[in-house]
Amino acid sequence: MIVGAGVGGSFLALLLGRKGLRVVVVDANPGPGHRGADILKPRAIRLLAEHGLLDRLRSRGALQRDRIDFYHDGVSLLPYDFVEHTELGHYLVVPYVETVGTILEACAELPNVDVRFDSKIAAVTTAGATATEAILHNGARISARAFVDSSGSATPLRDLVRPHFDTLTYDHVLRMATVPLSSESDLRNRLYFGSTGWLAYFYPVTADSARIFLGVPRDQDARSHTGKYLNSLPVLYSFVPEADEAFRHLETAEFEPAPISAYTSKPYHHGNVILLGSSVFACHPMTGQGMSYSMEDAAVLTSILSEARDDLELSRLLDRHYETRRPAHERLVQYGDSLARSFHDKAAYLRAHDAVMHGGDL
Ligand SMILES: Cc1cc2nc3c(=O)[nH]c(=O)nc-3n(C[C@H](O)[C@H](O)[C@H](O)COP(=O)(O)OP(=O)(O)OC[C@H]3O[C@@H](n4cnc5c(N)ncnc54)[C@H](O)[C@@H]3O)c2cc1C
Repeated sequence: MIVGAGVGGSFLALLLGRKGLRVVVVDANPGPGHRGADILKPRAIRLLAEHGLLDRLRSRGALQRDRIDFYHDGVSLLPYDFVEHTELGHYLVVPYVETVGTILEACAELPNVDVRFDSKIAAVTTAGATATEAILHNGARISARAFVDSSGSATPLRDLVRPHFDTLTYDHVLRMATVPLSSESDLRNRLYFGSTGWLAYFYPVTADSARIFLGVPRDQDARSHTGKYLNSLPVLYSFVPEADEAFRHLETAEFEPAPISAYTSKPYHHGNVILLGSSVFACHPMTGQGMSYSMEDAAVLTSILSEARDDLELSRLLDRHYETRRPAHERLVQYGDSLARSFHDKAAYLRAHDAVMHGGDL
């Protein structure tokens, strides 16, 4: 059983389902979530290709890109070229809901995978260290050999693992808006940093819309917005060239908070209850790789869950092949942290930026 039909949970459900295992997935939301995780870097793309999902995702309008242009106080800082720094040579921009939708569409083709939205776990029955049955809010009972929580929230399952979180906090908040793509805008992803501690990331996300992420120093956030609307255009134009057509809709753009957190946790499992994706780690979105790692973890878990014949073997395989994923998560979280703490300072950011790590390829 899997809690959370996000990118990690749904990918795991698909891979287990294709191995012939029976899988139930429950998700608290009424349908696939809308969030700002729009960038798929090479490792995620390779996994989607390996499992026959890439063409489907492309047919949903995924945009292929090979550059991200970084600026500091309006001046070019780093033209990052995926052709130069990755083997794959590109990344994809596609709304999160389409990525998850593609995976869930493939799940729906498997009679042994049952995805239930609007569903939450109310309680879990245990026998010693083994979880035996989950009781849903609607009273349904689901027994399973293993329980995976990829919800990123406090659930009765996560409580059984009792994870300890090492959490990093930031002095900026992120806000996200979706704006019409003006025909004059070119299709480049561009990330503007200001020595003021602000940042603005612009990228086309579909054929006719673009995302804008603003990073706003926490102590200026309340006064920089009136409701959903940005009222600090002069601050923005201190580090974004006013001539950039991409920002022409700023005055009418509706910004929503996009929560950022960065953490790793310990342990990743207890008995047959396993934590995945945002239930075990989160990195600053500047890395653009949370989904890649969660999907890779789902692939590792698939091998373990399909190989283990009993609880003892499951625990042994999890210790050997799953708990050992933590150093990679910690490196990613640390990398995102070093970018997030340095972007206001040009020289410090360039020292923190690692061209290979940033590409997110093999
Ligand atoms: C602002 C932002 C931008 C990001 N941008 C990128 C990016 O561009 N590229 C990238 O690779 N990564 C990005 N990430 C990271 C990425 O979103 C995560 O790494 C990834 O979504 C983790 O996948 P997951 O399936 O574990 O969790 P999620 O994708 O968070 O999915 C969790 C699911 O669990 C469900 N759920 C929550 N609580 C419950 C509950 N109690 N019971 C049942 N279901 C529940 C939710 O409805 C959701 O469907 C970004 C993160 C943020 C915050």
